[in-house]
Amino acid sequence: MFENLSDRLSGVFDRLTKQGALSADDVKAAMREVRVALLEADVSLPVAREFIKAVESKATGQAVTKSVTPGQQVVKIVHDELIHVLKGDAEPGALKISSPPAPILMVGLQGGGKTTTTAKIAKRLKEREGKKVLMASLDVNRPAAMEQLAILGTQIGVDTLPIVKGEDPVAIAKRAKTQASLGGYDVYMLDTAGRLHIDQELIAQAAAVRDVANPRETLLVVDGLTGQDAVNVATEFDDKIGVTGVVLTRMDGDGRGGAALSMRAVTGKPIRFVGLGEKLDALESFDPERIAGRILG
Ligand code: GDP
Repeated sequence: MFENLSDRLSGVFDRLTKQGALSADDVKAAMREVRVALLEADVSLPVAREFIKAVESKATGQAVTKSVTPGQQVVKIVHDELIHVLKGDAEPGALKISSPPAPILMVGLQGGGKTTTTAKIAKRLKEREGKKVLMASLDVNRPAAMEQLAILGTQIGVDTLPIVKGEDPVAIAKRAKTQASLGGYDVYMLDTAGRLHIDQELIAQAAAVRDVANPRETLLVVDGLTGQDAVNVATEFDDKIGVTGVVLTRMDGDGRGGAALSMRAVTGKPIRFVGLGEKLDALESFDPERIAGRILG
């Protein structure tokens, strides 16, 4: 198991007993431990470096309060800075879906959890907000993916757009829009095709769909266990398609959540939800406090 940051820091600060203020040397020693903790939590190296710079300048010279140990004080500064970086300007869990039918575009690599997350969000909108949702699969190259969405729709009692063989993604998106308007849907979700890697065709297709659907939200679904890869994928999708939020999946796994910090620091995009399992209710609003706790150990 990982050693938590408080334990690590108590070692560093054992020799320092209430000297009045955190000296630059003490803070430097503490930052070495913070750096190890961040890297163990799978935070990328450049992000860890930037983060430590910010914390170091805040901690140095800070008066040591009587009620806490210097170690606890540094942990608090680190914790507050983590929350500061993790918090986006969008409210986690809330989606912009006014003026129906509101299109939501779902993008991401194959296997990241896009189709499952589409169904999870649809279920949540239906159950928590009483929204009438239509889901459509645009993955014309993988009939199994289209069927998967239809099966999930049946499981959660959410309509899916009937599959028409031979239709291209843009035509499907247009049909979804028409169906959503005629059928009085509040939201329609477009589950775009995923690939194993980002390629030009994937991006061109998602961009073409974006242009006809004019989505209110474009949510990128990425596997939170893939660390730095997740960040690279997010950067690329955001550059090429423009995303409004991120969903980090597989946060029920062994990962320490460092991808969340890297994602926020590098892309600046808000993390809206986290996926916490295969079940269709295993989706939660992103909670910076919880992830910060996990990163600190
Ligand atoms: P897609 O190719 O991106 O559409 O990915 P899928 O939605 O088909 O998901 C791929 C696999 O990951 C499936 O077996 C899902 O059940 C699983 N999965 C999706 N989200 C999560 C999650 O948050 N946690 C876990 N443990 N598994 C997930």
